[in-house]
Amino acid sequence: MKITFVGTSHGVPEKNRYCTCIMLESNGAIYFIDAGAPMVDFLVDNGKSINDLRAVFTTHVHSDHTIGLVHLVNLMNWYYKRSSAEIFITEQEHIDATVRWTYTAGDGLIDEERIKLKVAYEGRVYQDENIKVEYIPTAHMKNSYAILVTEGDKRVLFGGDFSHGLRKHDVPSVINENIDGFVCELAHFTMDELSPYLDICNAKRVFFIHAKPARYTDIEDIKGRYPFEVITPDDSDEYLI
Ligand SMILES: [Zn+2]
Ligand SMILES: [Zn+2]
Repeated sequence: MKITFVGTSHGVPEKNRYCTCIMLESNGAIYFIDAGAPMVDFLVDNGKSINDLRAVFTTHVHSDHTIGLVHLVNLMNWYYKRSSAEIFITEQEHIDATVRWTYTAGDGLIDEERIKLKVAYEGRVYQDENIKVEYIPTAHMKNSYAILVTEGDKRVLFGGDFSHGLRKHDVPSVINENIDGFVCELAHFTMDELSPYLDICNAKRVFFIHAKPARYTDIEDIKGRYPFEVITPDDSDEYLI
């Protein structure tokens, strides 16, 4: 699968950094993890068709992970009439607000045949011929999740946001397994608080996003300390897994 970091900022945009949004491509199909960036603009800028979009998976409803959904759903509804996607949101209330936004904007009721807004839940929420997607609860807020994506024998964990100072049930235990990537935020806790988890992490690569600028020196400090590769992607950076 190809991973493109569309937005890597930490809840507030920084220069040249949108908020959390990651695009996955597998056999020509497009998926997004989180929606904190203008996804339609990104697809257009990069010559991708919205008709190849299959699904969007959001980790929790904070706006830095969901604000792009309103724009996406609106445009899919009234303009890109051949597009269709499953969109996973962690709260029914947030789905209702998205539907209501489109309606009050004068764009009518959402075409539910094409735009399938679904409440995410713990466990396997999605599977097609390319990928499987599993939601794993975290302690960041009520109904927040990490997302494990499997493509064949490749697995990547997208951590979403964890809690302040890291609580026990934040970092999913799958990081102890032989996974291909762990995308980890670094805004709600320090590198010291994360280090017990890194000590037992068996991922091949750890990608740090959603990091406060002051934490970038901490990330540099751990490079070479662990068996895994430590990566700090910028917006638009692509990785093949
Ligand atoms: Zn966030
Ligand atoms: Zn959050």
